[in-house]
Amino acid sequence: MSYSYLRANTKYSTLKIMNEEKCPKCGAPLSEVIETPTGKKLQRCSTGSWNKETKKNEGCDYVKWLEVAPEELDEKCPKCGNPLVLQVTRFGKKMKKCSTGGWDSKEKKATGCDYVEWISNNKTEPLDMDCPECGNKLVLFTTSTGKKAEKCSTGGWDSKAKKATGCTYIRWLKPGEVPVSSAGEEFLPPPPTEE
Ligand SMILES: [Zn+2]
Ligand SMILES: [Zn+2]
Ligand SMILES: [Zn+2]
Repeated sequence: MSYSYLRANTKYSTLKIMNEEKCPKCGAPLSEVIETPTGKKLQRCSTGSWNKETKKNEGCDYVKWLEVAPEELDEKCPKCGNPLVLQVTRFGKKMKKCSTGGWDSKEKKATGCDYVEWISNNKTEPLDMDCPECGNKLVLFTTSTGKKAEKCSTGGWDSKAKKATGCTYIRWLKPGEVPVSSAGEEFLPPPPTEE
């Protein structure tokens, strides 16, 4: 399968890819592409199915794992100047990496440029509330694990110095507590407890 084929399909999130591919074990057509909760993609043989009660495969057990092609970004590698790509790990974490970087599975070592930048899944949305400490606007902060907090919009995270910048006001919300919010997204410091 060509790189561009996979790329086109992942990019436009067509999960129901109709194709003519046949199962190498039994010759039946493969079923549509399934995306796992962790973002991996696979295709089963259409004659096979998973029996939840017996926890066994029934029929043909052929499963083909699809490589999730990295998405090319409109950013250049600060190390070598080649384009960066966006890659999602099998744990659902995102990172930007250099498109020239790779992994030699025979030699078990990295090849090409090793630049990697992890992307936080955290996001913030502006709130129509003032910070009790400095009077600036608060933002609603959602971590990659779904925890929510109100924090000061002037607060930031210096990832080089590994310390908080600006106003440090933060109030973690109880599960189910929802402040008024609108859309928006930006980088933020990691939550006190990661995962
Ligand atoms: Zn089969
Ligand atoms: Zn590079
Ligand atoms: Zn503040």
